[in-house]
Amino acid sequence: MTACAESFGYYLKSRLTFLINKTDSTWNSMSYIQVREDSKLEIPDDLTIGFIEGDGIGPDISRAAVTVINSCIELAYKEKRRIGWKKILAGDAAFEKTGKHLPQESLDELKKCVVSIKGPLTTPIGEGFRSLNVTMRQYFDLYANVRPIRYFPGVPSPVKNPEKVDMVVFRENTEDLYAGIEWRYDSDEAKKLRWFLKEDFQVKLTDDTGIGIKPISKFKSQRLVRKAIQYALANRRKSVTLVHKGNIMKYTEGAFKEWGYDLAATEFKDQTIREDELQQGAPAAWRVVMKDRITDNMFQQVLTRTDEYDIIATTNLNGDYLSDAIAAQVGGLGLAPGGNIGDVYAIFEAVHGTAPKYAGQDVANPTSLILSGGMMLRHIGWTEAANILEEALTLTYADQKVTQDLARVLKVKALSGTEFATEVIKRMKVP
Ligand code: NAP
Repeated sequence: MTACAESFGYYLKSRLTFLINKTDSTWNSMSYIQVREDSKLEIPDDLTIGFIEGDGIGPDISRAAVTVINSCIELAYKEKRRIGWKKILAGDAAFEKTGKHLPQESLDELKKCVVSIKGPLTTPIGEGFRSLNVTMRQYFDLYANVRPIRYFPGVPSPVKNPEKVDMVVFRENTEDLYAGIEWRYDSDEAKKLRWFLKEDFQVKLTDDTGIGIKPISKFKSQRLVRKAIQYALANRRKSVTLVHKGNIMKYTEGAFKEWGYDLAATEFKDQTIREDELQQGAPAAWRVVMKDRITDNMFQQVLTRTDEYDIIATTNLNGDYLSDAIAAQVGGLGLAPGGNIGDVYAIFEAVHGTAPKYAGQDVANPTSLILSGGMMLRHIGWTEAANILEEALTLTYADQKVTQDLARVLKVKALSGTEFATEVIKRMKVP
């Protein structure tokens, strides 16, 4: 590394540490988002955003993402707009200080901020520990997990035409098997349920059977599909595909599909058209095409007929698997951003987890959190800053400036997360 790049890296690190560690009294001068009666947000120019650093690689990638986000705001709006990052405790850091992984005070602060961004949080496998991510999604009713996935030229990919990937997955975030209705095989609840199923429904389960319940409701399915169609219309996208396993689970997955089509036919009658109707002749005006695919088929379709898919609306578990598989086509989890969005609150986060083996080494790829920051800027209407951020990332990848996850495939020098952030900032320009 040259002396100049080294000193810029040092400047970045110290500026970041300063920004992140500002005391709460500093943030009192910043304003909070106001929620109007119609649930619309009023965004002040000096804005407080909630910020959870996260566990594992969280502190490394958060540091990099915060500097990149601050830089594009500075470039887009000079002194006119800025974000004050309100540090909120969760995960290991919260446990050390308070004995709780997600104290009520943190939930209250997230609520006050309305919009937040977070690093990944550990979910120990096993008993007695509910996922903090799932808890937050349910507490704030963040029902749409939105995951845009597209290709940046220069990024190594396992497929021939990764540029064909340009999809946005809308994954239902509050029900399905993630609702947390689950009992161990030897619990009283599981015993009672097995007894009840046998007595009332003649369903016999062996005594060593654990039980999980998969609730899928009309209201929650339709509000998710509504958000996906609204997004498709606002961004003039081609189609919305309902992905489901309705051939096997008719009254949950199958119902999701039916409710999705019903919603499109009633609320978006003149703006959507079903794929089978389209085959009978195209309408005069442009419409979003509504399709559906069974999940297992969809996994091969996104590989074999990639450019036929655009916006995807699906249930919780399907969406989790499918979005990771699509992300693999464009460089993997290090590049996959996400937003958990409800009618009022929103928390943006990388799709990936804490990658504990890379914790504290500044080697993880911060792109997914940087891109999540871009999503957040679009969410609050600061699109000029989001455009600068995404354009700079595109240029950085075109120049093959990459962290170890991609450097090991490209056989080029790996940058640290901080160096990568520096390269992105260097390429920022006002359009
Ligand atoms: P993971 O943390 O996503 O890591 C899996 C692998 O993905 C890593 O070993 C690494 O692959 C790659 N990877 C992930 N993030 C990367 C990045 N930023 N840069 C480069 N490579 C990256 O998944 P996990 O190991 O299954 O989960 C670890 C913990 O995270 C668990 O406690 C899990 O519950 C939690 N988690 C949290 C969230 C969340 O907070 N939203 C989401 C998912 C998982 P290589 O080994 O090939 O380098």
